[in-house]
Amino acid sequence: MSLSVSPSTKRANRGTGRDRLKGYTGCVPEITPAAPALVMDFVNTLDIETGSDSIDSPGALRRWIEQRLGTRLRSLDEDAWRTMVETRESLRELLASHSGAEVNRNALRQLNRAGERAEIRPRWDDAGKATFEPHDAGPSGALGRIFSAVVAAQSDGTWDRLKVCPAEDCRYAFYDHSKNRSGRWCSMRVCGNRAKTRTYRQRHG
Ligand SMILES: [Zn+2]
Repeated sequence: MSLSVSPSTKRANRGTGRDRLKGYTGCVPEITPAAPALVMDFVNTLDIETGSDSIDSPGALRRWIEQRLGTRLRSLDEDAWRTMVETRESLRELLASHSGAEVNRNALRQLNRAGERAEIRPRWDDAGKATFEPHDAGPSGALGRIFSAVVAAQSDGTWDRLKVCPAEDCRYAFYDHSKNRSGRWCSMRVCGNRAKTRTYRQRHG
């Protein structure tokens, strides 16, 4: 029996579009709550395995913000774009710590720097519940939306379930739906199996 899975199968298993929101499917597939789903989608704008990056230019980032956040930006300069791309990678580093990696200090420093650009303010709804909302509709507002999703996920207990696949060629963000939060790979059928195959080959090769 062959344990290897081709990269194309891997893509197929991950699904596309909204399917991806379901993330880890090793256990009960459920819809990922909105706050971690936004962070996950943002981190996954770069697919490390294929090298495809859906925010690889200021224009591409503007389109992503429009599609995912529903905010139409008139302009987005190079500097704001760079901050968003750096923020994405810092968040990826931070999520890796949910699977046991050390918290990356450089990533935290970058996030704090980016945070200074994010304009968010608290807003209370009719039921008296407060959330952070972006203060303006520009790029700093988009950054604010991402950061307020992080804060929301951290306060509602969903943050720790948001993880990054430890496979070096993957590093895909996924939501761990498993009961005991033990999910490790983006998809057990693919990355987990690949790792098992490697271990098997090392032992028996
Ligand atoms: Zn993976």
